[in-house]
Amino acid sequence: LRKLAKRRELEEWETDLQLALCDLTRDRVAELTRKAEQAKQIVRGREFYDADKLEWAINVFREVTSTISLVYAPARICMPPMETDLSYKIYVSSEVLDAVQDTQVNVYRDVFEHILKPAIAAEQPDVIGISIVLQQQVFSTMTFCALIKQHFPDIHVTIGGNTVTRLRDVLPTTPDLFALFDSAVVYEGETAFLQLVEAVGAGRELANIPNLIYRDASGIHTSPLTYAEDMVSLPPPDFTGLPLERYFLPDRILPYLATRGCYWGRCEFCDHGEGYTAGYRTKKIDQIIEE
Ligand code: SF4
Repeated sequence: LRKLAKRRELEEWETDLQLALCDLTRDRVAELTRKAEQAKQIVRGREFYDADKLEWAINVFREVTSTISLVYAPARICMPPMETDLSYKIYVSSEVLDAVQDTQVNVYRDVFEHILKPAIAAEQPDVIGISIVLQQQVFSTMTFCALIKQHFPDIHVTIGGNTVTRLRDVLPTTPDLFALFDSAVVYEGETAFLQLVEAVGAGRELANIPNLIYRDASGIHTSPLTYAEDMVSLPPPDFTGLPLERYFLPDRILPYLATRGCYWGRCEFCDHGEGYTAGYRTKKIDQIIEE
């Protein structure tokens, strides 16, 4: 900003940013770090249930993320709520591609460099799968996909999840975006992902895997096969290896789907069924209790 100020007059937001950065002394950063540690303890312990303490902790998180945002201006890093704004449009593929390459606003490039890259280098996986459950995760996912392919070109990168399922018609028409990853699992993913991992491991072709969109040297292909899971034969989810103690919650909360689809399915405004190829299915009551 100092260099910029020598060339032209700074805009108002740039002047505000410069002043805010001047206030960010080492003492201020040390104070924020101390408060952040205290806030983390609150949200992970019984003090979570003390409304005043919880509010204090949440305000500390807001203070910390708005301070981090200064470095990535004009991006706005937000938590909570999870509404980080990189100042790009999420459903325009050219904007997503620009955001991926933007070293100024894209905080996820640094997350990759400092956290994911060393972890991937240590583990050396053959396949990495990333779920996009919420549209807010598109930028982080596409950034991670691009950087994984750049630094570890031999790893097969696949994306999946609800948002990917809803983009199933668009993905094959956006080769520039699809170049960031190798395949996309749409609809329910358990069987498709297992078959994908087995095929990649055995060096087999991917054409016969259900619910899969993939690319090879000849282009992007959509599998003609679809598969809906049989809920009764699905095992319960396995959370082994997840650092559950690091979530910002005092009690362990795990997602568990005992049913899929909607038994009613008649509300005109609802697009829940778009995520499935089959109707309502449920596990058996005894199975649910046991699991
Ligand atoms: S809103 Fe959708 S998911 Fe809910 S009952 Fe209606 S159709 Fe089913």
